[in-house]
Amino acid sequence: MPQAEFQDTGDTGDIALHGITVRYGKAKAPVVAVEDVSLEAGPGEFVVLVGPSGCGKTTLLRIAAGFVTPSEGTATVRGEPPVPGRATGVVFQQPRLFPWRTAGGNIAFALARHGVPREHRAERTEELLARVGLAGMAGRRTWELSGGQQQRVAIARALAGEPQVLLMDEPFAALDALTRERLQEEVRTLAATSGTTVLFVTHSAEEAVLLGSRVLVMAAGPGRIVAELEIGLERAAETDVAALRGTPEFSRLRGELAAVMREAALTPAG
Ligand code: ADP
Ligand code: MG
Repeated sequence: MPQAEFQDTGDTGDIALHGITVRYGKAKAPVVAVEDVSLEAGPGEFVVLVGPSGCGKTTLLRIAAGFVTPSEGTATVRGEPPVPGRATGVVFQQPRLFPWRTAGGNIAFALARHGVPREHRAERTEELLARVGLAGMAGRRTWELSGGQQQRVAIARALAGEPQVLLMDEPFAALDALTRERLQEEVRTLAATSGTTVLFVTHSAEEAVLLGSRVLVMAAGPGRIVAELEIGLERAAETDVAALRGTPEFSRLRGELAAVMREAALTPAG
């Protein structure tokens, strides 16, 4: 996707969370979802958060999206406090499309929200659909689309504002294995081509290693980051991602991350 105009993000990364604590519920008996978590994602980095259910992955993503305000700590995206729907594209586990709109209608709606003039929307919609492998499908009703196709529309919609930062919360978890693999490969290529900064949540070691340039491993009770892995796999736009899965280095990293994740799950509450 085209780069947004240059913005000075100062010393912080595209995504910067510092000393984040989130408490839900009553002040007297709060649930501490995450405690004193700091993370940064630099421009073009693909940072993956992994960890067991309930460790606060979604909470951190929602903070970066501007949906949740932390109880303590600061969050910035490209140097500014996050505002929902502005500079950031968000993709959830469920596509959450408007069921009464067509595939194209869902995207045109997002384009309108981002101020794209009416006369350019049809063309931009086609471009976005083509980018997620749905060329010519603009007129399809959402119920005529498979789960994988709906999630492609959701990704295209997230790209409508040409975001420099993309947040994805287990976007492929509800898909069948083959569709999931295809979409993983496409998102990896898309990110490598566009230089977008991505914060991606999953509980799959395989998915984390395939997609991430860096993986942060979380533990629960309260949620915190307990380990970090650099993934040195080739990240060029022309990388054959499917072939990469078959390499010994990929298997080694996946095994290493799985071991770290097992250990993190057994880490006593901090
Ligand atoms: P994950 O995405 O890693 O599964 P979440 O961020 O969804 O974890 O949740 C972290 C913790 O915060 C869990 O214990 C969860 O039950 C709790 N939690 C999440 N959202 C809320 C909420 N809106 N109100 C109360 N507790 C919540
Ligand atoms: Mg979650």
